[in-house]
Amino acid sequence: MDRIYITTPLYYVNAEPHLGNTYTMVLSDTLARYYRAKGSETFYLTGTDEHGDKIAQAAASAGLEPKAFTDKISATFRAVWDECGFSYDHFIRTTDDYHISYVQKVLGRVYQSGDIYFDRYSGLYCFGCERFYTDKELVNGKCPDHLTEPKMIEEENYFFRMSKYQDQLLRHIETHPQFIRPEGYKNEVLAMLREPVEDLCISRPKSRLTWGIELPFDKRYVTYVWFDALINYVSALKRRGESDFQKFWPEAQHFIGKDIVKPHGVFWPTMLLAAGLPLYRHLNVHGYWTVEGKKMSKSLGNTVSPLEMKHTIGMDAFRYFVLRESVFGQDADFRRESLIGRYNADLANNLGNLVSRILAMQGKYFAGVVQPLSKQWVDEDNELKNIYEKAESEIGRHLTELQFHRALEVLWAALDHTNRYIVQTSPFTLIKDPANHARVGEILHHLLQAICHLARLLKPFMPDTAKELQSLLAFDDGDPALEASWGNSFAAGHKVNSPKVLFPRIEAPGNQ
Ligand SMILES: [Zn+2]
Repeated sequence: MDRIYITTPLYYVNAEPHLGNTYTMVLSDTLARYYRAKGSETFYLTGTDEHGDKIAQAAASAGLEPKAFTDKISATFRAVWDECGFSYDHFIRTTDDYHISYVQKVLGRVYQSGDIYFDRYSGLYCFGCERFYTDKELVNGKCPDHLTEPKMIEEENYFFRMSKYQDQLLRHIETHPQFIRPEGYKNEVLAMLREPVEDLCISRPKSRLTWGIELPFDKRYVTYVWFDALINYVSALKRRGESDFQKFWPEAQHFIGKDIVKPHGVFWPTMLLAAGLPLYRHLNVHGYWTVEGKKMSKSLGNTVSPLEMKHTIGMDAFRYFVLRESVFGQDADFRRESLIGRYNADLANNLGNLVSRILAMQGKYFAGVVQPLSKQWVDEDNELKNIYEKAESEIGRHLTELQFHRALEVLWAALDHTNRYIVQTSPFTLIKDPANHARVGEILHHLLQAICHLARLLKPFMPDTAKELQSLLAFDDGDPALEASWGNSFAAGHKVNSPKVLFPRIEAPGNQ
């Protein structure tokens, strides 16, 4: 059986859900829904990353103990994702007991095999990033992310022999060109691996930080957050049992933003090699969103919250916009004007009007009762059928290649064609002559079949809209008629519902 395991990064609980991580959710959720709908065994994981300096500090400034603080923020993430309707199968927290014990198991195993060693180290440490920097990585002596000068600290710590696995990983990526995609990010990782890779400091002394997972071989230390968090992708499966791990792990696809390519493209696979675990299948890297051409930031007040989107424009319209407006892997710009423009043009005028128009004719001419199809189809009928059948396979191909925008282009081209079919066949003219009633019934049958196919094809992208279409066609969720081939969805006497406005037009502010 076909299987897929889809993960998002664990969101760091020192911030709240925003456009960037909501985008990761939309991408991964769309793919998970696509695979589930086509019958693949699917496991979809998300969760929160809860250990480390930054969390300890954020908890302290909120006047809370770290655990109480992370309980609160983790619950916020979960509540927001649930309200957005994301269909994850499990929500992992790095403070969950099963995760902590599995991380300790991996640490113990790698330590036993000699790939973790103890050493004195002095270096430049960024507290924001919770890691040491080499001179070469700094920009004008500052952390490129935090734009602050790192502090020179000297410590005795444990190190992971990452360098030992450098060549093995390099070869794997060279022989598996789709391991990291799109290609630009693969090349980024290859460039890192063609330079000497330093061993990774994986411990933090408790004298400096206690909020972490204790090293099983030295109680004076906790482990580095990445060595903790990355392991969630495996611990979440191990929790379900060895057979689920065997089943899903080889099909793992990680979705991440481009800021965390190094931990996922270098740290994580070398950790897997050291732990004697197979490598994941794909690392899927998406770009950043700017808002109105500017970097998103709280101080600029230009953040986009998923719930604001849900309440103003609807979750499906938001999903449509981010999937249609971005090219996977590249940066994109979020403009409210384009959001409203696409909403009005693609959703209100095209999709919404088309469905209303078909249902209105069906109601007016036949009191909603679907008329039989004859065996004699004209070219236009066959062409409409072919467009939808071809769309189905093309959408599948685009989605497996993460070309979400192309999949939606194909779907909207089918909508355009459906509008042309109405013009070509002009049921509204034919109906004036009673001799044509049977043909008008057939034309509308084909058009209702198009809505039925639309409901099926829209499901991964716009799940609520797909449901609305199903109920307008008077089908319950899961009705086999929804999956039937062209011309076979409607039994004799089936009655569809009256139209309703799916996407009320939005007037641009100042235009009212
Ligand atoms: Zn930093």
